[in-house]
Amino acid sequence: MNEDIMLMKELVARLNDLAYRYYVLDDPIVSDKEYDVLYDKLCALEAKTGTVLNDSPTKRVGGEPLKSFEPHTHINRLYSLDKCNSFDELRAWFEKLSAALGKQPECTLEYKLDGLTICLTYRDGQLVSGATRGNGEVGENVTEQIKTVKSVPLSIPFKGTVEVQGEGIMRISALNAYNATAAVPLKNPRNAVAGAIRNLDVRETAKRNLDVVFYNVNYIDGQSLGSQTEQIEFLKNNRFKTGMFYKTNNIEQIIDQIQSVDKSALDFAIDGMVIKVDDAKVRGTLGYTDKFPKWAIAYKFEAEETTTVLRDVQWQVGRTGKLTPLAILDPVELCGATVKRATLNNYGDILRKDVKIGSRVFIRRSNDVIPEILGVAERGQNDVDIPKPTVCPCCGHELTEEGAHLFCLNFYGCRAQVVARIVQFCSKDCMDIDGVSIKTAEQLYDILGVRSPAELYDLTGEQLARIDGFKDKKISNFIKAVQDSKAADLPHFISALCIENVGKVTARALAEHFGSIDALSKASEDELTAIQDVGGIVAQSIVEYFSAHGELLAKYKALGIDPVYAQKSEGKFSGLKFVLTGALQQYTRGDAAKLIEQNGGIVQSSVSKLTDIVVAGENAGSKLERARALGKKIIDENQFKDMLNS
Ligand SMILES: [Zn+2]
Repeated sequence: MNEDIMLMKELVARLNDLAYRYYVLDDPIVSDKEYDVLYDKLCALEAKTGTVLNDSPTKRVGGEPLKSFEPHTHINRLYSLDKCNSFDELRAWFEKLSAALGKQPECTLEYKLDGLTICLTYRDGQLVSGATRGNGEVGENVTEQIKTVKSVPLSIPFKGTVEVQGEGIMRISALNAYNATAAVPLKNPRNAVAGAIRNLDVRETAKRNLDVVFYNVNYIDGQSLGSQTEQIEFLKNNRFKTGMFYKTNNIEQIIDQIQSVDKSALDFAIDGMVIKVDDAKVRGTLGYTDKFPKWAIAYKFEAEETTTVLRDVQWQVGRTGKLTPLAILDPVELCGATVKRATLNNYGDILRKDVKIGSRVFIRRSNDVIPEILGVAERGQNDVDIPKPTVCPCCGHELTEEGAHLFCLNFYGCRAQVVARIVQFCSKDCMDIDGVSIKTAEQLYDILGVRSPAELYDLTGEQLARIDGFKDKKISNFIKAVQDSKAADLPHFISALCIENVGKVTARALAEHFGSIDALSKASEDELTAIQDVGGIVAQSIVEYFSAHGELLAKYKALGIDPVYAQKSEGKFSGLKFVLTGALQQYTRGDAAKLIEQNGGIVQSSVSKLTDIVVAGENAGSKLERARALGKKIIDENQFKDMLNS
């Protein structure tokens, strides 16, 4: 029996260590399968002995639903933060502190995560409770829910009593994965995490794959932490996940850092940045107001979400014949612009979100893309179902339903899709034929009867003279651009074909893999899905396109458009995309880049979703941070050297 318990202790320690490597450091050292074998072994021993150790990972799956939430009193009050919405206000705050202190205080900068604040208590190295913030003094006990979060340590090296504060979040990738199959999609990451942690059915919480990022040691006995920097160090040393961290006593540098934050590159939602005085002694001098510490402030980004009433839906026909519902809204201010329209993605999306005409809906705006409707905020009294169209709003052709989408298959006779196809074909990312606006494309369709981009190659100067704005010089330039475009490379030509679900990135991958249109057109779905990032739906779209449009492709070939992809040099890094960051000791940046390229790899200047490997040297900054946020493979200089020499 004792032997079993000893073995269980070893297994628990090993499994918790592996989970830490996987979920906190993002650096797994065994396969999922190996982990599962150890986990099953532990389960068997727990069943045999009837004992479950306090920090056993089997506690993470969630037990029976709870009856209610018990109150939890925090050891120290959890303060909320003072807020500001402009850089001027932020400067004013900093200047006031500097005046009070007689010097510019060193400040730290962190993401303000948009989730649910929680507070965990550890005693004797064990997690004893988890609670929501509540009113700052008393929150709700959500210990069982918190235990399901795999990046939260169930035991820590520190043996005294400590309360740590963090933000519970649902990663955007986890949210998207959940929504892909959920009957009722989650509206946004904040609602998703609040609904998960404040859920009495703990197994539901476990399904959401939450995370907690820590930023504050709220109480600690046995030692005093002198600064925010030391708090973050303490958290890291005790195996907590922590967020971005930057330190300076220059407010303009802080503002620069805030401006350089690219929210769209993060896998989690943030609604601002938090600036805190670093030194605990200086904090003590500054003190608190009734509500806030005077030594910290949250800079809030402009809200990207609001609600408004859905008045109507218009259906638009895109270049692949796909219909997209466009919601007409009561005008509302959002991110400094008036929003009147938003997308509903597809008919299936309308049903899933149960949006009706007359409903008050949540809308979100990010970057310059058209805002999206997230879901219903409130039903209207006279809500009306959004009618499902049966014929194309543009050409009257009967519609075809494929999954969640509706299509008009009138390939050569549907004006909206032909016009969109001509514009796409001529765009910079495709055949790069200058001067074709939507209006020009419409005239090509209406006046010259162009029904396919392939017909652009037969147009004469005489014909073109009938289009608005086409005079001598412009006509000859246009004809030359059209003829020159025959030399377009394969990735651009594939993009120009307007294949459903095939964007620029996929087009490049297809070109690299198949090398020619002929080879691509003969590819089976299995061959296609073997390519990284090509899923079943994309593969199906490609096969369908080539089986339907043999004649059109023959026409392009007859015109002399038949590009062949020139393979880059082969090597051990073939096709891998690298980013170099920080200072390397054994190579200059230029040398390292050359070595990557010589071995067939590609060097990128910034970390994106397409990056494969980040080589991080000393003092790596925001690129490393972004690589972590995107879950990219990060290696150091020695590992890079090993890869080169392997
Ligand atoms: Zn149509």
